[in-house]
Amino acid sequence: MSPNPVGPTLEAFLEEETRRTPGLERAVAAIVEDLALAFAGVAAAVADAALRGRLGEAATSNASGERHKKLDLLANEALAAACERGGHVAGIASEEEEGPRLLAGARASARHLVAFDPLDGSSNVEVNVTVGSIFSILRRGRDGGAPTLDEFLRPGTEQVCAGYALYGPATMLVLSAGRGVHGFTLDPRTGEFRLTHPGLRVPETTSEFAVNASNARFWEAPVRRWFGECIGGSAGPRGGDFNMRWIGALVAEVHRILTRGGVFLYPRDTKRPLKAGRLRLLYEGTPAAFLVEQAGGAASTGRERVLEVAPAELHQRIPLVLGARAEVERIVRYHREHDANGEPFRDPLFNARSLYAPRAARGLGAED
Ligand code: MN
Ligand code: MN
Repeated sequence: MSPNPVGPTLEAFLEEETRRTPGLERAVAAIVEDLALAFAGVAAAVADAALRGRLGEAATSNASGERHKKLDLLANEALAAACERGGHVAGIASEEEEGPRLLAGARASARHLVAFDPLDGSSNVEVNVTVGSIFSILRRGRDGGAPTLDEFLRPGTEQVCAGYALYGPATMLVLSAGRGVHGFTLDPRTGEFRLTHPGLRVPETTSEFAVNASNARFWEAPVRRWFGECIGGSAGPRGGDFNMRWIGALVAEVHRILTRGGVFLYPRDTKRPLKAGRLRLLYEGTPAAFLVEQAGGAASTGRERVLEVAPAELHQRIPLVLGARAEVERIVRYHREHDANGEPFRDPLFNARSLYAPRAARGLGAED
């Protein structure tokens, strides 16, 4: 594989993209530029956290009852400040904040809302494994006035831009404003993001999957069927061997899929307390689905296209299946066949009781 030629800076790219994309407003480019600056700052804070006493937990918890890490809060404030800087963002929603936050610095004409997970996979920080930030930009249905909670509860199809920053061996920004998916790498010498991965595409088929297989006994039947067929390998119904990958942080999983293909699942499970999956719809599922679809892949809950899910609450969780189109479609078909076979979706609690009464107290998983 030849190395990627280094393309334009993020600023130059966005200027061109704004010119070429009907309806893409200059404000969106300005918001992304401000976020990019914050991502570079978060990357630096993650890199020297151990040197600055910023590892470990803070004293507060988020809306899901998970204890904040110091870096969660630092990243949250960095992204909130970035959204406030240009005055284009009327309000934000964050994994780390109970409700929407109205930005005092917003101009009266501010027409956009931003939802984000400021530090995805933050428990990876302690083991020096990749973490990220992921965001979704919506355009308000109306101008002026304080945005209401309802304005954030829009299906993912209404996103005007989505993206993530990845803090790995290299810091990257990957985004889509509705015309493909493009990756930028931070040049630590200049502080600039330069286009290095234009037009990312997800191959339609794959022999790689990522799923937390330790939860297999809690999955619904269609997911167990799919998984059983995969691990059956060349002797099984799929007639081929699969490889498994697992990072346990959504942004890093999505990045792997965008760069080398594969399928990622965090399905609904029947553990108690009941959870409709683990990942959050508005600032994990919808931006990830937007990017994967823009790269030619697919994203489903197993029963519904992720981008068409109508959100009911800010921190709603959903089951997530995303990546190679043919593999996602197969998993969706298994759900459809299962539901049509007179085995409608059953109360997960019933399943949990009938077969696998969970005994051990559940801790929170590595994934957040
Ligand atoms: Mn997360
Ligand atoms: Mn997070």
